[in-house]
Amino acid sequence: DHKATVIDGKAVAHTIRSEIADEVRQLSQKYGKVPGLAVVLVGHRKDSQSYVSMKRKACAEVGIKSFDIGLPEQVSEAELISKVHELNANPDVHGILVQLPLPKHVNEEKVLGEISLEKDVDGFHPLNIGKLAMKGREPLFLPCTPKGCLELLSRSGISIKGKKAVVVGRSNIVGLPVSLLLLKEDATVTIVHSRTKEPEKIIREADIVIAAAGQANMIQGSWIKSGAAVIDVGTNAVDDRTKKSGYRLVGDVDFKEASKVAGWITPVPGGVGPMTVAMLLKNTLDGAKRVIER
Ligand code: NDP
Repeated sequence: DHKATVIDGKAVAHTIRSEIADEVRQLSQKYGKVPGLAVVLVGHRKDSQSYVSMKRKACAEVGIKSFDIGLPEQVSEAELISKVHELNANPDVHGILVQLPLPKHVNEEKVLGEISLEKDVDGFHPLNIGKLAMKGREPLFLPCTPKGCLELLSRSGISIKGKKAVVVGRSNIVGLPVSLLLLKEDATVTIVHSRTKEPEKIIREADIVIAAAGQANMIQGSWIKSGAAVIDVGTNAVDDRTKKSGYRLVGDVDFKEASKVAGWITPVPGGVGPMTVAMLLKNTLDGAKRVIER
């Protein structure tokens, strides 16, 4: 019976976090300065609050100073932008993250565009995304989840150059940037989205599958090419009465069936999720090093 190698994102993220902690310590010893991350949270969505507190905890663990900026749901766009400007000017802040989604009355595009390019640790500034899309240009920061996906591939010894990669999903935060990143790494990339006809035919060709559709168990085992590397970004809550919470998290890929054919596969939870946070810390460290070592 074939069994895919399960890529342990939690373990890889743990390794990366201890590498980051070492570097933070060295920076602090050499320059007396530590990286700083500002996290801006507007309103009090439960999910956003829990992401933000996770990020804050992760910062503390590696010695990154976090600045928490909580703003009321009714905050005006102008007030939010002036907060961003203040953080842009604060020399102790090396990374600025505006937790999405923002309330409807605030123009997300406008706010993200105000973040200093040098502090755009989420990598969502249109200029950073634009550079990611262009040949011979290097963005200052790569978006965290896409960067985490590629880090999982490289740390598992999976090469990208010349491979056929299929990305399922084309969102601004995952599908599109991960496609661009794979292209930069010389994969031949196909993007599957909600209007794609017969996605299974396309996915079956893939040496590398990145699933980011947000559709529980959409990708069946029989859609996976034998030996393929499967990175499952999907994080979907499905009802489960055996759990205290009443739900459990599953990916976009039918893990059990896909494991019988894939070469490598990431679990949900414990795959891409922990990598996203680790990459945020890495981006903050890199941003701080650029300034502190200058
Ligand atoms: P979005 O809802 O913004 O985008 C989903 C994308 O998938 C869209 O491009 C959509 O196509 C496409 N899609 C939807 N249904 C289908 C389908 N049946 N077949 C093919 N394509 C489909 O989601 P996000 O990109 O924000 O997130 C995707 C998933 O990843 C979610 O489960 C999310 O929770 C998870 N996630 C996990 C992270 C982590 O750290 N592990 C971080 C971020 C997200 P179209 O454009 O045509 O509408």
